[in-house]
Amino acid sequence: MKSPVHAEKDPDRPDLRPDFRHVKSWIFDLDNTLYRADNGIFAQIESRMTDYVTNLLKLPRDEARARQKDLYRQYGTTLNGLMREHECDAEDYLSFVHDIDLGNLGPDAGLSNAIAALPGKRFIFTNGCRDHAQRILGRLDMAHLFDAAWDIRTIGFAPKPQASAYDAVVAAGGVNPSESAMFEDIARNLVPARALGMTTVWLKTDAPWGKHGPLMDVKDGDIDHQTEDLTHFLQSIRI
Ligand SMILES: [Mg+2]
Repeated sequence: MKSPVHAEKDPDRPDLRPDFRHVKSWIFDLDNTLYRADNGIFAQIESRMTDYVTNLLKLPRDEARARQKDLYRQYGTTLNGLMREHECDAEDYLSFVHDIDLGNLGPDAGLSNAIAALPGKRFIFTNGCRDHAQRILGRLDMAHLFDAAWDIRTIGFAPKPQASAYDAVVAAGGVNPSESAMFEDIARNLVPARALGMTTVWLKTDAPWGKHGPLMDVKDGDIDHQTEDLTHFLQSIRI
């Protein structure tokens, strides 16, 4: 990876601040991007996925979990693997895995204000489902900040990092990739965005799913910027 800019290091030097003045479309992943990866929300979803695989494939839980991880790596999401190999009912899966407790998730005024300040259109691009996205955005009090949310149905159940998902989003949003920025906690999901010409920002976390995932190498130049604090990063860029 080619020394991505750490804006936090010198926020008072305008010449060192990441330049996003070309960006008119702001595309955000949802889970572990708009809320912290260590707050337990996604861990609940992951555990529900394991429950689902355990029941569907009638495997012991540890074997089901290993199978879940294999499918995730191979197909981009566990759901896509279950649909391809095990005739899984997508709607049944989505409602089951997203039936989680969001009681710990509340408004984030700092991040909301930073997103509200971004000029142009703002979008959500998630491998999850729309109902889950609306619940999360509702808890965060951010629903009004976004022009549209693209979910796994919108992208025809072909998840990130499959190229067709990005093509669908670009077409649906009328987005010019060279005037777009994408923010995501899973580095591999930025590779196709960069290939289209988007400016890419990796939200680096310690959570294992940021590095594991579908088989796709992240090369020099795929990540334009990285940060461990999305709010701070958005406050530091030139817009
Ligand atoms: Mg994510």
